[in-house]
Amino acid sequence: MDILTWSTLSDDEQRRVLQRSPLVADDSLEQSVRQIIDAVASRGDAALMEFNLRFDGVSTESLRLTQAEIAAAGTRVSPELKQAIATATANIEAFHGAQQFRPVDLETQSGVRCELRSEAIAKVGLYIPGGSAPLISTVMMLALPAKIAGCERRVLVSPPPIDDAIVYAANACGITEIYRVGGAQAIAALALGTETIPAVDKIFGPGNRYVTEAKRLLSQDRRCTLSIDMPAGPSEVLVIADGDADCEFIAADLLSQAEHGPDSQVILVTDSSAIADGVNGALTRQLAQLSRREVAAQALASSRTLLVQDMRQAAQVSNLYGPEHLIIQTRAPRELLTDIRAAGSVFLGGYTPESVGDYASGTNHVLPTYGYSRAVSSLSLADFSRRFTVQELTATGLNAIGQTVMTLALSEGLDAHANAVKLRLASLAAVNPAQ
Ligand code: NAD
Repeated sequence: MDILTWSTLSDDEQRRVLQRSPLVADDSLEQSVRQIIDAVASRGDAALMEFNLRFDGVSTESLRLTQAEIAAAGTRVSPELKQAIATATANIEAFHGAQQFRPVDLETQSGVRCELRSEAIAKVGLYIPGGSAPLISTVMMLALPAKIAGCERRVLVSPPPIDDAIVYAANACGITEIYRVGGAQAIAALALGTETIPAVDKIFGPGNRYVTEAKRLLSQDRRCTLSIDMPAGPSEVLVIADGDADCEFIAADLLSQAEHGPDSQVILVTDSSAIADGVNGALTRQLAQLSRREVAAQALASSRTLLVQDMRQAAQVSNLYGPEHLIIQTRAPRELLTDIRAAGSVFLGGYTPESVGDYASGTNHVLPTYGYSRAVSSLSLADFSRRFTVQELTATGLNAIGQTVMTLALSEGLDAHANAVKLRLASLAAVNPAQ
Protein backbone atom coordinates (compact mmCIF):
# COMPACT_ATOMS: atom_id res chain seq x y z
CA MET A 1 0.00 0.00 0.00
CA ASP A 2 1.17 3.52 -0.70
CA ILE A 3 2.50 5.26 2.42
CA LEU A 4 1.60 8.97 2.69
CA THR A 5 2.54 11.42 5.46
CA TRP A 6 -0.68 13.15 6.51
CA SER A 7 0.82 16.48 7.64
CA THR A 8 2.64 17.00 4.31
CA LEU A 9 -0.61 16.76 2.33
CA SER A 10 -2.55 19.89 1.38
CA ASP A 11 -6.21 20.16 2.49
CA ASP A 12 -7.28 19.10 -0.99
CA GLU A 13 -4.94 16.11 -0.99
CA GLN A 14 -6.14 15.06 2.47
CA ARG A 15 -9.74 15.17 1.22
CA ARG A 16 -8.81 13.19 -1.87
CA VAL A 17 -7.01 10.36 -0.03
CA LEU A 18 -10.09 9.84 2.15
CA GLN A 19 -12.54 10.08 -0.73
CA ARG A 20 -14.66 7.09 -1.71
CA SER A 21 -15.50 6.37 -5.31
CA PRO A 22 -18.92 7.80 -6.18
CA LEU A 23 -21.91 5.62 -5.30
CA VAL A 24 -23.48 4.11 -8.40
CA ALA A 25 -25.85 6.65 -9.87
CA ASP A 26 -26.07 5.78 -13.48
CA ASP A 27 -29.14 6.37 -15.61
CA SER A 28 -29.05 3.02 -17.37
CA LEU A 29 -29.07 1.19 -14.01
CA GLU A 30 -32.04 3.25 -12.84
CA GLN A 31 -33.86 2.60 -16.10
CA SER A 32 -33.38 -1.17 -16.03
CA VAL A 33 -34.37 -1.38 -12.35
CA ARG A 34 -37.51 0.69 -13.05
CA GLN A 35 -38.46 -1.74 -15.81
CA ILE A 36 -38.03 -4.70 -13.45
CA ILE A 37 -40.14 -2.98 -10.76
CA ASP A 38 -42.92 -2.16 -13.25
CA ALA A 39 -42.95 -5.72 -14.57
CA VAL A 40 -43.39 -7.07 -11.03
CA ALA A 41 -46.09 -4.47 -10.32
CA SER A 42 -48.11 -5.47 -13.36
CA ARG A 43 -47.43 -9.21 -13.70
CA GLY A 44 -46.54 -10.34 -10.16
CA ASP A 45 -45.33 -13.92 -9.73
CA ALA A 46 -45.13 -14.57 -13.49
CA ALA A 47 -42.58 -11.76 -13.83
CA LEU A 48 -40.57 -13.10 -10.87
CA MET A 49 -40.34 -16.52 -12.49
CA GLU A 50 -39.23 -15.02 -15.81
CA PHE A 51 -36.52 -13.00 -14.08
CA ASN A 52 -35.33 -16.10 -12.20
CA LEU A 53 -34.79 -17.75 -15.57
CA ARG A 54 -33.24 -14.70 -17.25
CA PHE A 55 -30.85 -13.54 -14.49
CA ASP A 56 -30.21 -16.67 -12.45
CA GLY A 57 -30.75 -19.38 -15.08
CA VAL A 58 -33.20 -21.20 -12.81
CA SER A 59 -36.61 -22.42 -13.86
CA THR A 60 -38.97 -21.96 -10.89
CA GLU A 61 -42.12 -23.97 -10.35
CA SER A 62 -42.90 -22.59 -6.95
CA LEU A 63 -41.47 -19.45 -5.38
CA ARG A 64 -41.99 -20.44 -1.75
CA LEU A 65 -39.90 -23.21 -0.21
CA THR A 66 -42.04 -25.93 1.30
CA GLN A 67 -41.57 -27.23 4.85
CA ALA A 68 -40.27 -30.49 3.33
CA GLU A 69 -37.65 -28.58 1.31
CA ILE A 70 -36.60 -26.63 4.41
CA ALA A 71 -36.28 -29.81 6.47
CA ALA A 72 -34.36 -31.59 3.69
CA ALA A 73 -31.86 -28.71 3.40
CA GLY A 74 -31.10 -29.10 7.11
CA THR A 75 -30.09 -32.72 6.67
CA ARG A 76 -27.38 -31.67 4.20
CA VAL A 77 -25.66 -29.20 6.56
CA SER A 78 -22.64 -30.44 8.52
CA PRO A 79 -22.82 -30.82 12.33
CA GLU A 80 -19.82 -28.45 12.68
CA LEU A 81 -21.61 -25.69 10.81
CA LYS A 82 -24.79 -26.27 12.82
CA GLN A 83 -22.79 -25.97 16.04
CA ALA A 84 -21.11 -22.74 14.85
CA ILE A 85 -24.52 -21.30 13.94
CA ALA A 86 -25.83 -22.26 17.40
CA THR A 87 -22.91 -20.57 19.19
CA ALA A 88 -23.15 -17.38 17.13
CA THR A 89 -26.93 -17.36 17.55
CA ALA A 90 -26.64 -17.50 21.34
CA ASN A 91 -24.31 -14.47 21.37
CA ILE A 92 -26.34 -12.44 18.87
CA GLU A 93 -29.53 -13.23 20.79
CA ALA A 94 -27.94 -12.25 24.10
CA PHE A 95 -26.65 -8.91 22.80
CA HIS A 96 -29.82 -7.96 20.93
CA GLY A 97 -32.09 -9.26 23.69
CA ALA A 98 -30.36 -6.84 26.07
CA GLN A 99 -31.34 -3.92 23.80
CA GLN A 100 -35.03 -4.06 24.74
CA PHE A 101 -36.71 -0.68 24.62
CA ARG A 102 -37.38 1.05 27.94
CA PRO A 103 -40.69 2.95 27.76
CA VAL A 104 -41.00 6.54 28.97
CA ASP A 105 -44.09 7.53 31.00
CA LEU A 106 -43.86 11.05 32.38
CA GLU A 107 -46.01 13.89 33.69
CA THR A 108 -44.42 16.91 32.00
CA GLN A 109 -46.61 19.12 34.19
CA SER A 110 -49.44 18.34 36.56
CA GLY A 111 -52.25 16.56 34.65
CA VAL A 112 -50.26 16.27 31.40
CA ARG A 113 -49.09 12.68 30.87
CA CYS A 114 -46.73 11.83 27.97
CA GLU A 115 -45.56 8.37 26.97
CA LEU A 116 -43.03 6.94 24.53
CA ARG A 117 -43.90 3.38 23.55
CA SER A 118 -42.42 0.92 21.11
CA GLU A 119 -43.98 -1.86 19.07
CA ALA A 120 -42.53 -4.32 16.59
CA ILE A 121 -42.91 -3.57 12.89
CA ALA A 122 -45.55 -6.05 11.74
CA LYS A 123 -44.04 -7.26 8.43
CA VAL A 124 -40.36 -7.24 7.55
CA GLY A 125 -38.53 -8.48 4.46
CA LEU A 126 -34.96 -9.80 4.70
CA TYR A 127 -32.77 -9.89 1.57
CA ILE A 128 -29.91 -12.39 1.56
CA PRO A 129 -27.57 -11.95 -1.43
CA GLY A 130 -26.73 -14.86 -3.71
CA GLY A 131 -23.28 -14.98 -5.25
CA SER A 132 -20.39 -17.30 -4.50
CA ALA A 133 -20.55 -17.36 -0.69
CA PRO A 134 -23.71 -18.31 1.26
CA LEU A 135 -24.12 -15.40 3.66
CA ILE A 136 -25.26 -17.35 6.70
CA SER A 137 -24.04 -14.58 8.99
CA THR A 138 -26.33 -12.06 7.30
CA VAL A 139 -29.27 -14.40 7.89
CA MET A 140 -28.48 -14.43 11.62
CA MET A 141 -27.87 -10.65 11.81
CA LEU A 142 -31.28 -9.89 10.30
CA ALA A 143 -33.51 -12.77 11.36
CA LEU A 144 -32.59 -12.86 15.05
CA PRO A 145 -33.30 -9.19 15.87
CA ALA A 146 -36.54 -9.41 13.84
CA LYS A 147 -37.60 -12.40 15.95
CA ILE A 148 -36.54 -10.85 19.27
CA ALA A 149 -38.31 -7.57 18.40
CA GLY A 150 -41.48 -9.58 17.80
CA CYS A 151 -42.05 -8.80 14.09
CA GLU A 152 -45.04 -11.01 13.24
CA ARG A 153 -44.26 -11.74 9.61
CA ARG A 154 -40.61 -12.26 8.73
CA VAL A 155 -40.08 -12.97 5.05
CA LEU A 156 -36.72 -14.00 3.60
CA VAL A 157 -35.85 -13.77 -0.10
CA SER A 158 -32.67 -14.92 -1.86
CA PRO A 159 -31.73 -15.69 -5.47
CA PRO A 160 -32.17 -19.30 -6.60
CA PRO A 161 -30.85 -21.84 -6.04
CA ILE A 162 -30.73 -21.01 -2.31
CA ASP A 163 -27.83 -22.66 -0.52
CA ASP A 164 -28.79 -25.34 2.05
CA ALA A 165 -26.87 -23.48 4.77
CA ILE A 166 -28.95 -20.32 4.21
CA VAL A 167 -32.16 -22.33 4.43
CA TYR A 168 -30.99 -24.13 7.57
CA ALA A 169 -29.83 -20.90 9.26
CA ALA A 170 -33.07 -19.11 8.37
CA ASN A 171 -35.16 -21.90 9.84
CA ALA A 172 -32.94 -22.08 12.94
CA CYS A 173 -33.43 -18.30 13.38
CA GLY A 174 -37.21 -18.59 13.25
CA ILE A 175 -37.90 -17.76 9.60
CA THR A 176 -40.61 -19.92 8.09
CA GLU A 177 -41.35 -17.96 4.92
CA ILE A 178 -38.52 -18.34 2.40
CA TYR A 179 -38.89 -17.35 -1.27
CA ARG A 180 -36.48 -18.15 -4.09
CA VAL A 181 -36.12 -14.83 -5.87
CA GLY A 182 -33.33 -12.26 -5.85
CA GLY A 183 -32.21 -8.95 -7.34
CA ALA A 184 -34.40 -5.90 -7.94
CA GLN A 185 -37.39 -8.16 -8.62
CA ALA A 186 -37.25 -9.58 -5.07
CA ILE A 187 -37.21 -6.08 -3.60
CA ALA A 188 -40.14 -5.08 -5.84
CA ALA A 189 -42.10 -8.15 -4.71
CA LEU A 190 -41.48 -7.33 -1.03
CA ALA A 191 -42.41 -3.68 -1.54
CA LEU A 192 -45.48 -4.09 -3.73
CA GLY A 193 -46.61 -7.64 -2.95
CA THR A 194 -47.48 -10.36 -5.49
CA GLU A 195 -49.92 -13.27 -5.48
CA THR A 196 -47.48 -15.29 -3.35
CA ILE A 197 -45.16 -12.81 -1.64
CA PRO A 198 -46.66 -10.41 0.91
CA ALA A 199 -45.88 -6.69 0.80
CA VAL A 200 -43.80 -5.77 3.87
CA ASP A 201 -43.33 -2.54 5.80
CA LYS A 202 -39.54 -2.48 5.87
CA ILE A 203 -36.77 -4.23 3.93
CA PHE A 204 -33.38 -5.11 5.41
CA GLY A 205 -30.22 -6.55 3.91
CA PRO A 206 -27.31 -5.93 1.56
CA GLY A 207 -27.09 -6.74 -2.12
CA ASN A 208 -25.53 -5.77 -5.43
CA ARG A 209 -26.22 -2.54 -7.32
CA TYR A 210 -29.57 -3.78 -8.68
CA VAL A 211 -30.78 -4.59 -5.18
CA THR A 212 -29.52 -1.31 -3.74
CA GLU A 213 -31.06 0.74 -6.56
CA ALA A 214 -34.41 -1.05 -6.17
CA LYS A 215 -34.44 -0.29 -2.43
CA ARG A 216 -33.67 3.36 -3.17
CA LEU A 217 -36.35 3.71 -5.85
CA LEU A 218 -39.08 1.82 -3.99
CA SER A 219 -38.52 3.74 -0.76
CA GLN A 220 -39.69 6.80 -2.74
CA ASP A 221 -42.37 5.05 -4.82
CA ARG A 222 -45.98 6.28 -4.48
CA ARG A 223 -47.35 2.75 -4.91
CA CYS A 224 -46.09 1.72 -1.46
CA THR A 225 -44.92 3.13 1.89
CA LEU A 226 -41.69 1.23 2.20
CA SER A 227 -38.91 1.84 4.71
CA ILE A 228 -35.39 0.53 4.17
CA ASP A 229 -32.64 -0.25 6.66
CA MET A 230 -29.83 2.08 5.59
CA PRO A 231 -27.97 3.42 2.54
CA ALA A 232 -25.40 0.88 1.33
CA GLY A 233 -21.97 1.24 -0.22
CA PRO A 234 -18.88 -0.99 -0.48
CA SER A 235 -17.57 -2.39 2.81
CA GLU A 236 -14.63 -0.63 4.51
CA VAL A 237 -12.15 -0.84 7.40
CA LEU A 238 -9.77 1.66 8.94
CA VAL A 239 -7.06 0.40 11.31
CA ILE A 240 -5.38 2.72 13.81
CA ALA A 241 -2.09 1.26 15.04
CA ASP A 242 0.81 2.49 17.14
CA GLY A 243 4.36 1.14 17.34
CA ASP A 244 3.27 -1.67 19.71
CA ALA A 245 0.88 -3.26 17.23
CA ASP A 246 1.46 -6.60 15.52
CA CYS A 247 2.06 -6.17 11.76
CA GLU A 248 0.78 -9.67 10.95
CA PHE A 249 -2.49 -9.02 12.83
CA ILE A 250 -2.97 -5.70 11.05
CA ALA A 251 -2.29 -7.20 7.61
CA ALA A 252 -4.72 -10.03 8.31
CA ASP A 253 -7.45 -7.55 9.26
CA LEU A 254 -6.83 -5.39 6.19
CA LEU A 255 -6.98 -8.46 3.96
CA SER A 256 -10.15 -9.77 5.57
CA GLN A 257 -11.80 -6.59 4.34
CA ALA A 258 -10.04 -6.47 0.98
CA GLU A 259 -11.22 -9.98 0.05
CA HIS A 260 -14.89 -8.82 0.07
CA GLY A 261 -14.56 -7.19 -3.35
CA PRO A 262 -12.35 -5.05 -5.59
CA ASP A 263 -14.23 -1.95 -4.39
CA SER A 264 -13.59 -2.64 -0.66
CA GLN A 265 -11.97 0.27 1.18
CA VAL A 266 -8.93 -0.39 3.35
CA ILE A 267 -6.94 2.27 5.25
CA LEU A 268 -4.14 2.02 7.83
CA VAL A 269 -3.37 5.03 10.03
CA THR A 270 -0.23 4.80 12.14
CA ASP A 271 2.38 7.00 13.82
CA SER A 272 5.11 4.43 13.20
CA SER A 273 6.88 4.11 9.85
CA ALA A 274 8.26 0.74 11.05
CA ILE A 275 4.67 -0.50 11.34
CA ALA A 276 3.79 0.96 7.92
CA ASP A 277 6.68 -0.92 6.29
CA GLY A 278 6.13 -4.07 8.35
CA VAL A 279 2.46 -4.24 7.36
CA ASN A 280 3.35 -3.94 3.67
CA GLY A 281 5.70 -6.92 4.05
CA ALA A 282 3.08 -8.94 5.92
CA LEU A 283 0.45 -8.10 3.29
CA THR A 284 2.62 -9.50 0.51
CA ARG A 285 3.26 -12.73 2.45
CA GLN A 286 -0.33 -13.30 3.53
CA LEU A 287 -1.91 -12.29 0.22
CA ALA A 288 -0.09 -15.09 -1.57
CA GLN A 289 -1.88 -17.64 0.66
CA LEU A 290 -5.43 -16.43 0.05
CA SER A 291 -7.90 -18.10 -2.28
CA ARG A 292 -9.40 -14.72 -3.15
CA ARG A 293 -5.98 -13.05 -3.61
CA GLU A 294 -6.90 -11.48 -6.97
CA VAL A 295 -9.92 -9.71 -5.52
CA ALA A 296 -7.97 -8.63 -2.42
CA ALA A 297 -5.03 -7.39 -4.53
CA GLN A 298 -7.37 -5.18 -6.57
CA ALA A 299 -8.82 -3.64 -3.40
CA LEU A 300 -5.34 -3.08 -1.96
CA ALA A 301 -4.21 -1.31 -5.14
CA SER A 302 -6.41 1.65 -4.23
CA SER A 303 -5.77 1.44 -0.48
CA ARG A 304 -3.24 3.45 1.51
CA THR A 305 -1.31 3.92 4.74
CA LEU A 306 -1.39 7.35 6.34
CA LEU A 307 1.49 8.31 8.63
CA VAL A 308 0.35 10.63 11.41
CA GLN A 309 2.12 12.47 14.26
CA ASP A 310 0.33 10.79 17.14
CA MET A 311 -2.80 8.89 18.12
CA ARG A 312 -4.85 12.05 18.57
CA GLN A 313 -4.22 12.93 14.92
CA ALA A 314 -5.02 9.31 14.01
CA ALA A 315 -8.44 9.71 15.63
CA GLN A 316 -8.99 12.98 13.74
CA VAL A 317 -8.21 11.29 10.41
CA SER A 318 -10.52 8.40 11.28
CA ASN A 319 -13.31 10.84 12.19
CA LEU A 320 -12.91 12.61 8.84
CA TYR A 321 -13.30 9.27 7.05
CA GLY A 322 -16.05 7.79 9.27
CA PRO A 323 -15.30 4.09 8.63
CA GLU A 324 -17.82 1.27 8.71
CA HIS A 325 -15.34 -0.79 10.80
CA LEU A 326 -12.65 0.81 12.98
CA ILE A 327 -9.96 -1.40 14.49
CA ILE A 328 -7.73 0.18 17.17
CA GLN A 329 -4.51 -1.71 17.87
CA THR A 330 -2.65 0.48 20.32
CA ARG A 331 -1.19 0.28 23.83
CA ALA A 332 -4.36 1.67 25.40
CA PRO A 333 -7.12 1.31 22.78
CA ARG A 334 -10.03 2.10 25.11
CA GLU A 335 -8.48 5.51 25.91
CA LEU A 336 -8.80 6.50 22.25
CA LEU A 337 -12.48 5.59 22.19
CA THR A 338 -13.54 8.95 23.64
CA ASP A 339 -11.94 10.71 20.63
CA ILE A 340 -13.92 8.65 18.10
CA ARG A 341 -16.85 10.56 16.60
CA ALA A 342 -17.79 8.47 13.56
CA ALA A 343 -17.52 4.69 13.15
CA GLY A 344 -20.08 1.94 12.54
CA SER A 345 -18.43 -0.58 14.88
CA VAL A 346 -15.19 -0.32 16.86
CA PHE A 347 -12.82 -3.24 17.56
CA LEU A 348 -10.47 -2.65 20.50
CA GLY A 349 -7.05 -4.26 20.91
CA GLY A 350 -4.92 -6.85 19.18
CA TYR A 351 -7.21 -9.76 20.03
CA THR A 352 -10.34 -8.30 18.47
CA PRO A 353 -10.31 -8.93 14.73
CA GLU A 354 -13.19 -7.60 12.68
CA SER A 355 -14.12 -11.18 11.80
CA VAL A 356 -15.49 -11.80 15.31
CA GLY A 357 -18.00 -9.00 14.87
CA ASP A 358 -18.78 -10.16 11.34
CA TYR A 359 -19.85 -13.56 12.61
CA ALA A 360 -20.20 -14.38 16.22
CA SER A 361 -19.34 -11.95 19.05
CA GLY A 362 -22.97 -10.78 19.26
CA THR A 363 -22.84 -7.28 17.69
CA ASN A 364 -24.65 -6.69 14.41
CA HIS A 365 -22.57 -6.65 11.24
CA VAL A 366 -24.99 -4.49 9.25
CA LEU A 367 -23.27 -1.12 9.54
CA PRO A 368 -23.29 2.29 7.88
CA THR A 369 -20.73 2.69 5.10
CA TYR A 370 -19.65 5.61 2.92
CA GLY A 371 -19.18 8.03 5.83
CA TYR A 372 -22.82 7.71 6.96
CA SER A 373 -21.49 6.56 10.36
CA ARG A 374 -21.44 10.26 11.29
CA ALA A 375 -25.22 10.12 11.73
CA VAL A 376 -26.46 6.59 10.98
CA SER A 377 -26.21 3.85 13.64
CA SER A 378 -25.35 0.19 13.32
CA LEU A 379 -28.36 -2.09 12.95
CA SER A 380 -29.98 -2.88 16.29
CA LEU A 381 -33.21 -4.10 17.84
CA ALA A 382 -34.67 -0.58 17.56
CA ASP A 383 -34.62 -0.81 13.75
CA PHE A 384 -37.21 -3.58 13.88
CA SER A 385 -39.72 -1.59 15.85
CA ARG A 386 -41.51 1.72 15.61
CA ARG A 387 -41.65 4.21 18.43
CA PHE A 388 -44.77 6.26 19.03
CA THR A 389 -46.04 8.69 21.63
CA VAL A 390 -49.21 8.74 23.71
CA GLN A 391 -50.59 11.67 25.68
CA GLU A 392 -53.47 12.10 28.07
CA LEU A 393 -54.58 15.24 29.88
CA THR A 394 -56.87 15.68 32.85
CA ALA A 395 -59.19 18.67 33.10
CA THR A 396 -56.69 20.27 35.48
CA GLY A 397 -53.91 19.59 32.99
CA LEU A 398 -55.82 21.23 30.12
CA ASN A 399 -56.74 24.22 32.28
CA ALA A 400 -53.07 24.68 33.13
CA ILE A 401 -51.62 24.31 29.63
CA GLY A 402 -54.53 25.66 27.56
CA GLN A 403 -53.52 29.33 27.40
CA THR A 404 -49.96 28.41 26.32
CA VAL A 405 -51.28 26.33 23.43
CA MET A 406 -53.77 29.03 22.35
CA THR A 407 -51.11 31.74 22.39
CA LEU A 408 -48.74 29.67 20.25
CA ALA A 409 -51.49 28.56 17.83
CA LEU A 410 -52.82 32.10 17.33
CA SER A 411 -49.30 33.42 16.78
CA GLU A 412 -49.06 30.94 13.90
CA GLY A 413 -52.43 32.08 12.58
CA LEU A 414 -54.04 28.69 13.19
CA ASP A 415 -57.40 29.62 14.68
CA ALA A 416 -58.87 26.12 14.56
CA HIS A 417 -56.02 24.82 16.70
CA ALA A 418 -56.72 27.52 19.32
CA ASN A 419 -60.43 26.86 19.10
CA ALA A 420 -60.03 23.14 19.91
CA VAL A 421 -58.64 24.24 23.29
CA LYS A 422 -60.89 27.27 23.81
CA LEU A 423 -64.10 25.20 23.45
CA ARG A 424 -62.96 22.75 26.06
CA LEU A 425 -61.83 25.45 28.50
CA ALA A 426 -65.22 27.11 28.11
CA SER A 427 -67.01 23.82 28.78
CA LEU A 428 -64.87 23.24 31.87
CA ALA A 429 -65.61 26.77 33.11
CA ALA A 430 -69.35 26.15 32.64
CA VAL A 431 -69.23 22.98 34.73
CA ASN A 432 -67.00 24.47 37.37
CA PRO A 433 -67.10 28.29 37.29
CA ALA A 434 -64.53 28.49 40.14
CA GLN A 435 -61.72 27.24 37.85
P1 NAD B 1 -27.19 -10.38 -5.10
O1 NAD B 1 -28.14 -11.32 -4.48
O2 NAD B 1 -27.06 -9.04 -4.50
O3 NAD B 1 -27.63 -10.17 -6.62
C1 NAD B 1 -27.93 -11.23 -7.45
C2 NAD B 1 -29.10 -10.82 -8.32
O4 NAD B 1 -28.76 -9.71 -9.14
C3 NAD B 1 -29.57 -11.87 -9.28
O5 NAD B 1 -30.51 -12.70 -8.64
C4 NAD B 1 -30.19 -11.07 -10.37
O6 NAD B 1 -31.56 -11.01 -10.17
C5 NAD B 1 -29.61 -9.70 -10.24
N1 NAD B 1 -28.89 -9.37 -11.46
C6 NAD B 1 -27.70 -9.85 -11.85
N2 NAD B 1 -27.38 -9.35 -13.07
C7 NAD B 1 -28.40 -8.54 -13.44
C8 NAD B 1 -28.66 -7.72 -14.59
N3 NAD B 1 -27.82 -7.64 -15.60
N4 NAD B 1 -29.81 -7.01 -14.61
C9 NAD B 1 -30.68 -7.07 -13.59
N5 NAD B 1 -30.49 -7.84 -12.49
C10 NAD B 1 -29.35 -8.55 -12.42
O7 NAD B 1 -25.82 -11.16 -5.16
P2 NAD B 1 -24.41 -10.73 -5.74
O8 NAD B 1 -24.52 -10.22 -7.11
O9 NAD B 1 -23.50 -11.85 -5.49
O10 NAD B 1 -23.96 -9.49 -4.86
C11 NAD B 1 -23.79 -9.55 -3.50
C12 NAD B 1 -23.56 -8.14 -3.06
O11 NAD B 1 -23.81 -8.02 -1.69
C13 NAD B 1 -22.15 -7.65 -3.31
O12 NAD B 1 -22.22 -6.42 -3.98
C14 NAD B 1 -21.58 -7.47 -1.90
O13 NAD B 1 -20.68 -6.38 -1.83
C15 NAD B 1 -22.83 -7.19 -1.14
N6 NAD B 1 -22.69 -7.54 0.27
C16 NAD B 1 -22.63 -6.54 1.17
C17 NAD B 1 -22.54 -6.82 2.53
C18 NAD B 1 -22.53 -5.70 3.52
O14 NAD B 1 -22.75 -5.95 4.72
N7 NAD B 1 -22.32 -4.45 3.13
C19 NAD B 1 -22.49 -8.12 2.98
C20 NAD B 1 -22.55 -9.11 2.03
C21 NAD B 1 -22.65 -8.82 0.68
